[in-house]
Amino acid sequence: MLKDENRIFTNLYGMHDRTLKGAQARGHWDGTAGIIKKGRDWIINEMKASGLRGRGGAGFPTGLKWSFMPKESDGRPAYLVVNADESEPGTCKDREIMRHDPHTLIEGCLIASFAMNANACYIYIRGEYIREKEALQAAIDECYAAGLVGPNAAKSGWDFDIYLTHGAGAYICGEETALLESLEGKKGMPRMKPPFPAGAGLYGCPTTVNNVESIAVVPTILRRGGDWFAGMGRPNNAGTKLFAISGHVNNPCVVEEEMSISFEELIEKHCGGIRGGWDNLKAVIPGGSSVPCVRGENMRDAVMDFDALKEKGSSLGTAAVIVMDNSTDMIKAIWRLSKFYKHESCGQCTPCREGTGWMMRVMARLVEGNASVEEIDMLLDVTKQVEGHTICALGDAAAWPIQGLIKNFRDEIEDRIKDKRMAGMAAE
Ligand code: SF4
Repeated sequence: MLKDENRIFTNLYGMHDRTLKGAQARGHWDGTAGIIKKGRDWIINEMKASGLRGRGGAGFPTGLKWSFMPKESDGRPAYLVVNADESEPGTCKDREIMRHDPHTLIEGCLIASFAMNANACYIYIRGEYIREKEALQAAIDECYAAGLVGPNAAKSGWDFDIYLTHGAGAYICGEETALLESLEGKKGMPRMKPPFPAGAGLYGCPTTVNNVESIAVVPTILRRGGDWFAGMGRPNNAGTKLFAISGHVNNPCVVEEEMSISFEELIEKHCGGIRGGWDNLKAVIPGGSSVPCVRGENMRDAVMDFDALKEKGSSLGTAAVIVMDNSTDMIKAIWRLSKFYKHESCGQCTPCREGTGWMMRVMARLVEGNASVEEIDMLLDVTKQVEGHTICALGDAAAWPIQGLIKNFRDEIEDRIKDKRMAGMAAE
């Protein structure tokens, strides 16, 4: 269990002063200029040593991502873009950072931007996050007034501007290239890659897009050292992590914990256990709605990190843990996710535009048992044709929950089809 002294987010629940004064009293904005004066190579090497993997879902090593940015400018400016478009169902961790501990993020933006030769940073915040936007903007204004951002930011010698942009509520704008399109004032539609943003991103300039949590942990890592962060969690799964646990637990919550904590400990210590006890646990979606579900009996001993959950046939994703007890109609739950992805498809590639609607309609019939057993494999086949055949990962996100359902709860789907048929025969 995470020791208090290793906690990065000390005001996650808004119990303390969230203003600059309060943040400084908790140790933020401490020695920022000194960190910057150690230079780009030192910062990037320290981030690599920390083992931090991106907290937005993909888990790509953050230090390595930063090192893809050009070392010398070819005349174009470079940008840091922070993805605060937290829209994945179940995911609500970045929101706590932005509304209660915003200075962790702003200080991180300055340091990360410096490390990537960027004099400007854009934070793209989800359209529905209105209060969070107000809190974050108020914190940015405080930083400008105190000289922590702006010319010679925090007396570091680096000129730095930070802009907060409000999205309009489309899930797809959380995809990094769609986000860049939207920032540029266009429709939020993903771009083909390559070119990758580090080569040609925002306004065609070198850009790195990072998740809020990935950037907010940077100042503390650099103050305490990469080794400190790497010392928590299992190898290749380092550090602390915000877990957002929702669904059928006694106390749903967002909590900072050590990576690689067991699922059982996470639920018992922070959520007061499963509603109705462990025998009542049916399934868990461990990483936000796009990852496959895992049967309850396979989850109890699960280790909550990138590699272990992959071995369980799922993923840590954003660590948004959705817990479902035996009262859950799994088929209906996954149909609801299919409906979501169908609604959010931007429609520019055929497998996603047509496939998400097709999958949703079959799922709707499966909820009623109004299908034949052979259609289960046909549906699985269609998910495989969507997966990996689209411009962005929304196609995968629509396919994986259904694949997880068929893998883990095929018996339930078949039973419903048979029950429906029996009921029909009885009525004749
Ligand atoms: Fe748009 Fe879907 Fe293609 Fe992504 S996969 S670009 S959301 S149509």
